[in-house]
Amino acid sequence: MIANSAAKISRNGAFVQDTDIKKAGLKVTLPRVKILEVFESEPDAHMTAEDVYKLLMERGEEIGLATVYRVLTQFVTAGLLVRHHFEGGQAVFELDSGSHHDHIVCEQCGHVEEFIDETIEKHQHQIAASKGFDISDHSLIIYGRCKRKNCPNLDA
Ligand SMILES: [Zn+2]
Ligand SMILES: [Zn+2]
Ligand SMILES: [Zn+2]
Repeated sequence: MIANSAAKISRNGAFVQDTDIKKAGLKVTLPRVKILEVFESEPDAHMTAEDVYKLLMERGEEIGLATVYRVLTQFVTAGLLVRHHFEGGQAVFELDSGSHHDHIVCEQCGHVEEFIDETIEKHQHQIAASKGFDISDHSLIIYGRCKRKNCPNLDA
C-alpha cells in the first residue's frame, strides 16, 4: 500500500525501463512502460492493482484497471515483479529485487514493511536441519497493526 507518494514522481528513466521490459522478453507498450515506471519510482512499495491504477490516474495516465491487472500478471510471469497474497487483502506486487526479505503486514490498512533478521534466518536453517531438511525457500509474514497516520487502527 502506498500513501502520499504522488510528490515523489520521477518522469525519467523510460529508457532503462524499455530495456527491462525487452530483457524480460516482452514487447514495449505504453501501459507496460507506465506501470513499470510506477514501481521503479516507488522501489520499496508493495502495491495492489488498485494502488497502481490510482497512481497512474494521479499521473494523468489513462490505463484501465483490467489492463493494469493483465500487465501485472505478465510482469510476474516475466520475473519483473513478485506477487504476494497476504491474508485479508488483495494481492500486492513489488519489484523483484532478487534479494530475500520477509514482511510485516498491517491487518487494518494493509501497509507492508520489509525486514531481514539474520538471527531469524539462521534459526530457521537450524530448525530445518534438526528436522532433516535443507531449506529451499521460506516466507515469513508477521501480521499486526501499524501506527501510521491514516491507519484506521488509530481510530479504534
Ligand atoms: Zn526470511
Ligand atoms: Zn517486499
Ligand atoms: Zn495500518
